Amino acid sequence: MIDSQKIRADFPILNQTVNGKPLVYFDNAATSQKPQVVIDAEANYYKEINANIHRGVHTLSQLATDAYEASRYKIQQHINAKFSHEVLFTSGTTHGINLVANGFGSFLKPGDEVMVSALEHHSNIVPWQMLCEKTGAKLVVIPMNENGELILSEFERLLSEKTKMVTVNHISNALGTINPIQWMIEKAHEVGAAVLIDGAQAVPHLKPDVQDLDCDFYVFSGHKICGPTGTGILYGKEAWLNKLPPYQGGGEMIATVSFEKTTYAELPHKFEAGTPNIAGGIVLGTAIDYLNEIGFDNIAAYEHELLEYGTKKLLEIEGLKIYGTASQKTSVISFNLDGIHPYDVGTIIDKLGIAVRTGHHCAQPIMDFYQIPGTLRASFAFYNTKEEIDALVEAVKKAQMMLS
Ligand SMILES: *Cc1c(COP(=O)(O)O)cnc(C)c1O
Repeated sequence: MIDSQKIRADFPILNQTVNGKPLVYFDNAATSQKPQVVIDAEANYYKEINANIHRGVHTLSQLATDAYEASRYKIQQHINAKFSHEVLFTSGTTHGINLVANGFGSFLKPGDEVMVSALEHHSNIVPWQMLCEKTGAKLVVIPMNENGELILSEFERLLSEKTKMVTVNHISNALGTINPIQWMIEKAHEVGAAVLIDGAQAVPHLKPDVQDLDCDFYVFSGHKICGPTGTGILYGKEAWLNKLPPYQGGGEMIATVSFEKTTYAELPHKFEAGTPNIAGGIVLGTAIDYLNEIGFDNIAAYEHELLEYGTKKLLEIEGLKIYGTASQKTSVISFNLDGIHPYDVGTIIDKLGIAVRTGHHCAQPIMDFYQIPGTLRASFAFYNTKEEIDALVEAVKKAQMMLS
Protein backbone atom coordinates (compact mmCIF):
# COMPACT_ATOMS: atom_id res chain seq x y z
CA MET A 1 0.00 0.00 0.00
CA ILE A 2 1.11 3.55 -0.76
CA ASP A 3 0.70 6.16 1.96
CA SER A 4 0.91 9.19 -0.30
CA GLN A 5 1.12 11.75 2.50
CA LYS A 6 4.07 9.95 4.05
CA ILE A 7 5.76 9.56 0.67
CA ARG A 8 5.22 13.18 -0.32
CA ALA A 9 7.10 14.26 2.80
CA ASP A 10 10.19 12.60 1.26
CA PHE A 11 10.11 15.04 -1.70
CA PRO A 12 10.91 18.59 -0.58
CA ILE A 13 10.22 20.10 -4.02
CA LEU A 14 6.57 19.03 -3.94
CA ASN A 15 5.86 21.21 -0.94
CA GLN A 16 5.77 24.56 -2.71
CA THR A 17 3.49 26.90 -4.57
CA VAL A 18 3.94 27.83 -8.23
CA ASN A 19 2.26 31.01 -9.46
CA GLY A 20 0.60 31.19 -6.06
CA LYS A 21 -0.98 27.73 -6.33
CA PRO A 22 0.16 24.42 -4.82
CA LEU A 23 2.46 22.70 -7.29
CA VAL A 24 0.91 19.73 -9.09
CA TYR A 25 3.79 17.95 -10.80
CA PHE A 26 2.51 15.75 -13.63
CA ASP A 27 5.59 15.78 -15.85
CA ASN A 28 7.11 12.62 -14.43
CA ALA A 29 7.67 11.00 -17.83
CA ALA A 30 10.11 13.84 -18.58
CA THR A 31 11.90 13.57 -15.26
CA SER A 32 11.00 12.44 -11.77
CA GLN A 33 11.47 14.40 -8.58
CA LYS A 34 14.13 13.41 -6.05
CA PRO A 35 13.59 12.24 -2.48
CA GLN A 36 15.63 13.69 0.39
CA VAL A 37 17.74 10.50 0.72
CA VAL A 38 18.96 10.98 -2.85
CA ILE A 39 19.69 14.68 -2.34
CA ASP A 40 21.57 13.86 0.89
CA ALA A 41 23.54 11.04 -0.71
CA GLU A 42 24.78 13.36 -3.44
CA ALA A 43 25.88 15.98 -0.89
CA ASN A 44 27.46 13.35 1.38
CA TYR A 45 29.56 11.96 -1.43
CA TYR A 46 31.14 15.35 -1.98
CA LYS A 47 31.44 16.03 1.76
CA GLU A 48 32.98 12.70 2.67
CA ILE A 49 34.59 10.58 -0.04
CA ASN A 50 35.04 12.60 -3.23
CA ALA A 51 38.06 11.24 -5.17
CA ASN A 52 38.72 9.82 -8.61
CA ILE A 53 38.03 6.11 -8.97
CA HIS A 54 39.93 3.04 -10.19
CA ARG A 55 43.24 4.90 -10.09
CA GLY A 56 44.52 5.83 -6.68
CA VAL A 57 45.76 3.61 -3.89
CA HIS A 58 44.84 6.26 -1.36
CA THR A 59 41.95 5.69 1.01
CA LEU A 60 39.41 8.10 -0.44
CA SER A 61 39.95 6.82 -3.94
CA GLN A 62 39.35 3.30 -2.70
CA LEU A 63 36.21 4.36 -0.82
CA ALA A 64 34.86 6.11 -3.92
CA THR A 65 35.72 3.12 -6.13
CA ASP A 66 34.07 0.70 -3.70
CA ALA A 67 30.90 2.80 -3.52
CA TYR A 68 30.75 3.12 -7.32
CA GLU A 69 31.23 -0.61 -7.85
CA ALA A 70 28.76 -1.43 -5.07
CA SER A 71 26.20 0.62 -6.97
CA ARG A 72 26.94 -1.30 -10.16
CA TYR A 73 26.42 -4.54 -8.26
CA LYS A 74 23.14 -3.24 -6.82
CA ILE A 75 21.87 -2.36 -10.30
CA GLN A 76 22.96 -5.78 -11.58
CA GLN A 77 20.81 -7.38 -8.86
CA HIS A 78 17.94 -5.01 -9.60
CA ILE A 79 17.70 -5.91 -13.30
CA ASN A 80 18.91 -9.47 -12.75
CA ALA A 81 21.90 -9.28 -15.10
CA LYS A 82 24.12 -12.35 -15.04
CA PHE A 83 27.35 -10.41 -14.43
CA SER A 84 28.05 -6.97 -12.98
CA HIS A 85 30.39 -6.24 -15.90
CA GLU A 86 27.34 -6.38 -18.18
CA VAL A 87 26.11 -3.23 -16.43
CA LEU A 88 27.69 -0.09 -17.90
CA PHE A 89 27.29 3.39 -16.47
CA THR A 90 26.26 5.97 -19.06
CA SER A 91 25.00 9.53 -18.99
CA GLY A 92 21.49 8.35 -19.88
CA THR A 93 19.31 6.48 -22.35
CA THR A 94 20.47 8.61 -25.27
CA HIS A 95 24.12 7.83 -24.53
CA GLY A 96 23.40 4.10 -24.17
CA ILE A 97 21.59 3.87 -27.51
CA ASN A 98 24.30 5.86 -29.31
CA LEU A 99 26.99 3.65 -27.82
CA VAL A 100 25.36 0.53 -29.24
CA ALA A 101 24.32 2.10 -32.58
CA ASN A 102 27.82 3.42 -33.12
CA GLY A 103 29.52 0.07 -32.58
CA PHE A 104 26.86 -1.91 -34.39
CA GLY A 105 28.07 -0.51 -37.71
CA SER A 106 30.78 -3.20 -37.63
CA PHE A 107 28.07 -5.84 -38.11
CA LEU A 108 26.09 -4.19 -40.92
CA LYS A 109 26.45 -4.23 -44.69
CA PRO A 110 24.37 -2.51 -47.38
CA GLY A 111 20.96 -4.13 -47.68
CA ASP A 112 20.80 -5.23 -44.04
CA GLU A 113 17.87 -3.93 -42.03
CA VAL A 114 17.51 -2.15 -38.70
CA MET A 115 13.96 -2.22 -37.36
CA VAL A 116 12.53 0.48 -35.12
CA SER A 117 8.91 1.07 -34.16
CA ALA A 118 6.45 3.85 -34.87
CA LEU A 119 6.26 4.48 -31.12
CA GLU A 120 9.90 5.41 -30.56
CA HIS A 121 11.38 8.44 -28.85
CA HIS A 122 13.66 10.43 -31.19
CA SER A 123 16.66 9.11 -29.29
CA ASN A 124 15.78 5.59 -30.46
CA ILE A 125 15.28 6.72 -34.07
CA VAL A 126 17.98 9.20 -34.98
CA PRO A 127 21.09 7.18 -33.95
CA TRP A 128 19.83 4.27 -36.09
CA GLN A 129 19.07 6.56 -39.01
CA MET A 130 22.62 7.91 -38.78
CA LEU A 131 23.94 4.36 -38.67
CA CYS A 132 21.90 3.37 -41.73
CA GLU A 133 23.19 6.38 -43.66
CA LYS A 134 26.73 5.39 -42.82
CA THR A 135 26.42 1.68 -43.62
CA GLY A 136 23.82 1.49 -46.38
CA ALA A 137 21.51 -0.52 -44.15
CA LYS A 138 17.79 0.16 -44.37
CA LEU A 139 15.60 1.52 -41.58
CA VAL A 140 12.35 -0.45 -41.33
CA VAL A 141 9.45 0.77 -39.17
CA ILE A 142 6.93 -1.38 -37.30
CA PRO A 143 3.62 0.48 -37.77
CA MET A 144 1.09 1.36 -35.06
CA ASN A 145 -2.69 1.43 -34.93
CA GLU A 146 -5.19 4.07 -33.80
CA ASN A 147 -5.04 2.85 -30.17
CA GLY A 148 -1.32 3.45 -30.08
CA GLU A 149 -0.39 -0.23 -30.19
CA LEU A 150 2.18 -1.80 -32.49
CA ILE A 151 0.67 -3.90 -35.26
CA LEU A 152 2.25 -7.21 -34.37
CA SER A 153 1.23 -9.06 -37.54
CA GLU A 154 3.15 -6.40 -39.48
CA PHE A 155 6.13 -6.83 -37.19
CA GLU A 156 6.17 -10.57 -37.93
CA ARG A 157 5.77 -9.93 -41.64
CA LEU A 158 8.65 -7.42 -41.73
CA LEU A 159 11.10 -9.70 -39.94
CA SER A 160 13.53 -11.59 -42.19
CA GLU A 161 17.09 -12.82 -42.30
CA LYS A 162 17.97 -9.27 -43.41
CA THR A 163 16.91 -7.94 -39.99
CA LYS A 164 20.06 -7.45 -37.90
CA MET A 165 18.73 -5.26 -35.11
CA VAL A 166 15.28 -4.69 -33.63
CA THR A 167 15.13 -1.68 -31.34
CA VAL A 168 11.90 -0.86 -29.55
CA ASN A 169 10.79 0.79 -26.35
CA HIS A 170 9.42 -1.22 -23.47
CA ILE A 171 6.87 1.52 -22.81
CA SER A 172 6.05 4.52 -25.00
CA ASN A 173 6.79 7.91 -23.41
CA ALA A 174 4.21 9.74 -25.51
CA LEU A 175 1.26 7.38 -25.05
CA GLY A 176 2.11 5.00 -22.20
CA THR A 177 1.64 1.85 -24.31
CA ILE A 178 3.35 -1.22 -22.84
CA ASN A 179 4.79 -3.22 -25.74
CA PRO A 180 4.82 -7.05 -25.64
CA ILE A 181 8.60 -7.06 -25.71
CA GLN A 182 9.18 -10.56 -24.43
CA TRP A 183 7.32 -12.00 -27.39
CA MET A 184 8.96 -9.53 -29.79
CA ILE A 185 12.43 -10.44 -28.52
CA GLU A 186 11.69 -14.11 -29.10
CA LYS A 187 10.46 -13.46 -32.66
CA ALA A 188 13.46 -11.26 -33.48
CA HIS A 189 15.85 -13.90 -32.19
CA GLU A 190 14.21 -16.51 -34.44
CA VAL A 191 15.59 -14.61 -37.47
CA GLY A 192 18.93 -14.00 -35.76
CA ALA A 193 18.46 -10.28 -35.04
CA ALA A 194 19.83 -8.58 -31.94
CA VAL A 195 17.36 -6.67 -29.77
CA LEU A 196 17.79 -3.41 -27.89
CA ILE A 197 15.06 -2.37 -25.48
CA ASP A 198 14.66 1.30 -24.58
CA GLY A 199 13.51 0.92 -20.99
CA ALA A 200 13.50 4.63 -20.09
CA GLN A 201 9.74 4.66 -19.38
CA ALA A 202 9.57 1.15 -17.96
CA VAL A 203 12.01 1.31 -15.04
CA PRO A 204 9.98 3.94 -13.13
CA HIS A 205 7.07 1.49 -13.01
CA LEU A 206 8.51 -2.02 -12.97
CA LYS A 207 11.62 -4.08 -12.30
CA PRO A 208 12.88 -5.53 -15.58
CA ASP A 209 14.47 -8.99 -15.57
CA VAL A 210 16.95 -8.88 -18.43
CA GLN A 211 17.75 -12.59 -18.28
CA ASP A 212 14.12 -13.57 -18.38
CA LEU A 213 13.44 -11.10 -21.22
CA ASP A 214 16.56 -12.40 -22.99
CA CYS A 215 17.15 -8.98 -24.63
CA ASP A 216 20.65 -8.27 -25.92
CA PHE A 217 20.68 -4.67 -24.67
CA TYR A 218 18.48 -2.76 -22.21
CA VAL A 219 18.96 0.97 -21.62
CA PHE A 220 17.51 3.50 -19.21
CA SER A 221 18.11 6.87 -17.54
CA GLY A 222 18.67 7.52 -13.84
CA HIS A 223 16.80 10.82 -13.71
CA LYS A 224 13.40 9.21 -14.44
CA ILE A 225 13.75 6.90 -11.42
CA CYS A 226 14.41 9.49 -8.72
CA GLY A 227 18.15 9.53 -9.49
CA PRO A 228 20.40 12.36 -10.65
CA THR A 229 20.46 13.76 -14.19
CA GLY A 230 23.42 12.67 -16.27
CA THR A 231 23.20 9.06 -15.09
CA GLY A 232 22.02 5.96 -16.89
CA ILE A 233 22.60 2.30 -17.51
CA LEU A 234 23.35 0.23 -20.56
CA TYR A 235 22.94 -3.46 -19.94
CA GLY A 236 24.45 -5.66 -22.64
CA LYS A 237 24.94 -9.39 -22.83
CA GLU A 238 28.59 -10.19 -22.20
CA ALA A 239 29.08 -11.77 -25.64
CA TRP A 240 27.73 -8.65 -27.38
CA LEU A 241 29.77 -6.24 -25.26
CA ASN A 242 32.90 -8.23 -26.01
CA LYS A 243 32.16 -8.06 -29.74
CA LEU A 244 31.22 -4.37 -29.91
CA PRO A 245 34.10 -1.93 -30.51
CA PRO A 246 34.65 0.78 -27.89
CA TYR A 247 32.67 3.99 -28.29
CA GLN A 248 35.11 6.53 -26.90
CA GLY A 249 38.86 6.31 -26.45
CA GLY A 250 40.67 7.71 -23.45
CA GLY A 251 41.73 7.00 -19.91
CA GLU A 252 40.17 4.15 -17.96
CA MET A 253 39.21 2.13 -21.07
CA ILE A 254 42.70 0.88 -21.92
CA ALA A 255 44.88 -2.01 -20.84
CA THR A 256 48.12 -0.72 -22.41
CA VAL A 257 48.89 2.28 -24.59
CA SER A 258 51.83 2.89 -26.86
CA PHE A 259 52.03 4.90 -30.07
CA GLU A 260 52.14 1.66 -32.03
CA LYS A 261 49.14 -0.03 -30.44
CA THR A 262 46.58 0.26 -27.66
CA THR A 263 44.84 -2.70 -26.11
CA TYR A 264 41.49 -2.24 -24.44
CA ALA A 265 40.50 -2.87 -20.87
CA GLU A 266 38.17 -5.67 -19.85
CA LEU A 267 34.45 -5.08 -19.40
CA PRO A 268 32.94 -2.89 -18.12
CA HIS A 269 35.87 -0.43 -18.35
CA LYS A 270 36.22 -0.83 -22.12
CA PHE A 271 33.10 1.33 -22.48
CA GLU A 272 33.72 3.74 -19.62
CA ALA A 273 36.39 6.10 -20.92
CA GLY A 274 37.28 9.12 -18.83
CA THR A 275 36.14 10.21 -15.39
CA PRO A 276 32.47 9.32 -15.10
CA ASN A 277 29.69 10.92 -13.07
CA ILE A 278 30.96 9.18 -9.92
CA ALA A 279 28.55 10.83 -7.50
CA GLY A 280 25.66 10.21 -9.88
CA GLY A 281 26.47 6.53 -10.32
CA ILE A 282 26.63 6.00 -6.58
CA VAL A 283 23.45 7.95 -5.92
CA LEU A 284 21.56 6.08 -8.64
CA GLY A 285 22.02 3.06 -6.37
CA THR A 286 20.48 5.04 -3.50
CA ALA A 287 17.49 5.93 -5.70
CA ILE A 288 16.95 2.29 -6.63
CA ASP A 289 17.10 1.30 -2.94
CA TYR A 290 14.48 3.94 -2.20
CA LEU A 291 12.12 2.63 -4.89
CA ASN A 292 12.61 -0.97 -3.82
CA GLU A 293 11.75 -0.02 -0.27
CA ILE A 294 8.41 1.32 -1.47
CA GLY A 295 8.10 -1.76 -3.68
CA PHE A 296 7.39 -1.93 -7.39
CA ASP A 297 4.19 -3.93 -6.87
CA ASN A 298 2.87 -1.15 -4.67
CA ILE A 299 4.00 1.51 -7.13
CA ALA A 300 2.37 -0.23 -10.11
CA ALA A 301 -0.92 -0.86 -8.31
CA TYR A 302 -1.17 2.71 -7.04
CA GLU A 303 -0.24 4.29 -10.37
CA HIS A 304 -2.79 2.10 -12.13
CA GLU A 305 -5.43 3.45 -9.77
CA LEU A 306 -4.35 7.01 -10.66
CA LEU A 307 -4.47 6.15 -14.37
CA GLU A 308 -8.02 4.80 -14.14
CA TYR A 309 -9.20 7.70 -12.02
CA GLY A 310 -7.54 10.29 -14.26
CA THR A 311 -8.85 8.70 -17.46
CA LYS A 312 -12.40 8.62 -16.16
CA LYS A 313 -12.31 12.19 -14.82
CA LEU A 314 -10.71 13.70 -17.92
CA LEU A 315 -13.13 11.94 -20.27
CA GLU A 316 -16.00 13.65 -18.44
CA ILE A 317 -14.80 16.90 -20.08
CA GLU A 318 -16.71 17.43 -23.29
CA GLY A 319 -14.50 17.67 -26.39
CA LEU A 320 -11.50 16.05 -24.69
CA LYS A 321 -9.82 13.26 -26.60
CA ILE A 322 -7.24 10.85 -25.20
CA TYR A 323 -4.50 9.60 -27.53
CA GLY A 324 -3.16 6.17 -26.63
CA THR A 325 -5.84 3.78 -25.49
CA ALA A 326 -3.85 0.55 -25.52
CA SER A 327 -5.17 -2.21 -23.30
CA GLN A 328 -1.77 -2.36 -21.59
CA LYS A 329 -0.54 1.06 -20.53
CA THR A 330 1.18 2.92 -17.71
CA SER A 331 0.13 6.11 -15.95
CA VAL A 332 0.49 8.45 -18.92
CA ILE A 333 -2.48 10.35 -20.36
CA SER A 334 -1.93 12.22 -23.62
CA PHE A 335 -4.88 14.38 -24.58
CA ASN A 336 -6.20 17.41 -26.46
CA LEU A 337 -9.21 19.65 -26.31
CA ASP A 338 -11.20 19.88 -29.52
CA GLY A 339 -10.14 22.90 -31.59
CA ILE A 340 -7.62 24.23 -29.05
CA HIS A 341 -3.83 24.13 -29.36
CA PRO A 342 -2.21 22.09 -26.56
CA TYR A 343 0.35 24.83 -25.93
CA ASP A 344 -2.40 27.32 -25.04
CA VAL A 345 -3.96 24.93 -22.56
CA GLY A 346 -0.55 24.14 -21.06
CA THR A 347 0.21 27.83 -20.57
CA ILE A 348 -3.05 28.50 -18.77
CA ILE A 349 -2.88 25.50 -16.46
CA ASP A 350 0.71 26.37 -15.56
CA LYS A 351 -0.67 29.61 -14.17
CA LEU A 352 -2.81 27.39 -11.96
CA GLY A 353 0.25 25.53 -10.64
CA ILE A 354 -0.06 22.48 -12.87
CA ALA A 355 2.98 21.09 -14.66
CA VAL A 356 2.22 18.89 -17.66
CA ARG A 357 4.19 18.50 -20.84
CA THR A 358 2.92 20.00 -24.08
CA GLY A 359 4.28 19.27 -27.54
CA HIS A 360 5.42 16.26 -29.51
CA HIS A 361 7.23 14.57 -26.57
CA CYS A 362 10.28 13.78 -28.74
CA ALA A 363 8.04 11.48 -30.76
CA GLN A 364 7.04 13.48 -33.83
CA PRO A 365 6.16 10.42 -35.93
CA ILE A 366 3.37 9.58 -33.43
CA MET A 367 1.96 13.11 -33.73
CA ASP A 368 2.14 12.82 -37.52
CA PHE A 369 0.24 9.55 -37.31
CA TYR A 370 -2.60 11.27 -35.46
CA GLN A 371 -2.17 14.41 -37.61
CA ILE A 372 -1.89 16.69 -34.59
CA PRO A 373 0.80 19.21 -33.63
CA GLY A 374 1.18 17.70 -30.20
CA THR A 375 -0.70 16.79 -27.04
CA LEU A 376 -0.88 17.66 -23.39
CA ARG A 377 0.67 14.83 -21.44
CA ALA A 378 -0.05 14.20 -17.78
CA SER A 379 2.19 11.48 -16.38
CA PHE A 380 1.63 10.30 -12.81
CA ALA A 381 4.13 9.00 -10.29
CA PHE A 382 3.62 7.16 -6.99
CA TYR A 383 3.85 10.48 -5.11
CA ASN A 384 0.88 12.00 -6.95
CA THR A 385 -2.67 11.94 -5.60
CA LYS A 386 -6.28 11.86 -6.77
CA GLU A 387 -6.75 15.35 -5.32
CA GLU A 388 -4.07 16.56 -7.71
CA ILE A 389 -5.92 14.92 -10.60
CA ASP A 390 -9.06 16.80 -9.52
CA ALA A 391 -7.05 20.02 -9.66
CA LEU A 392 -5.88 19.15 -13.19
CA VAL A 393 -9.44 18.48 -14.33
CA GLU A 394 -10.68 21.77 -12.92
CA ALA A 395 -7.78 23.64 -14.53
CA VAL A 396 -8.39 22.06 -17.93
CA LYS A 397 -12.08 22.98 -17.72
CA LYS A 398 -11.12 26.55 -16.91
CA ALA A 399 -8.68 26.69 -19.83
CA GLN A 400 -11.37 25.32 -22.13
CA MET A 401 -13.78 28.01 -21.02
CA MET A 402 -11.22 30.76 -21.53
CA LEU A 403 -10.10 29.53 -24.95
CA SER A 404 -13.37 28.64 -26.64
C1 LIG B 1 13.33 10.02 -21.80
C2 LIG B 1 13.40 9.00 -22.84
C3 LIG B 1 14.53 8.85 -23.64
C4 LIG B 1 15.72 9.76 -23.55
O1 LIG B 1 16.28 9.74 -22.28
P1 LIG B 1 17.43 10.79 -21.89
O2 LIG B 1 17.47 10.68 -20.40
O3 LIG B 1 16.99 12.13 -22.38
O4 LIG B 1 18.68 10.32 -22.53
C5 LIG B 1 14.52 7.83 -24.56
N1 LIG B 1 13.47 7.01 -24.71
C6 LIG B 1 12.37 7.12 -23.96
C7 LIG B 1 11.25 6.16 -24.14
C8 LIG B 1 12.28 8.13 -23.01
O5 LIG B 1 11.19 8.26 -22.27
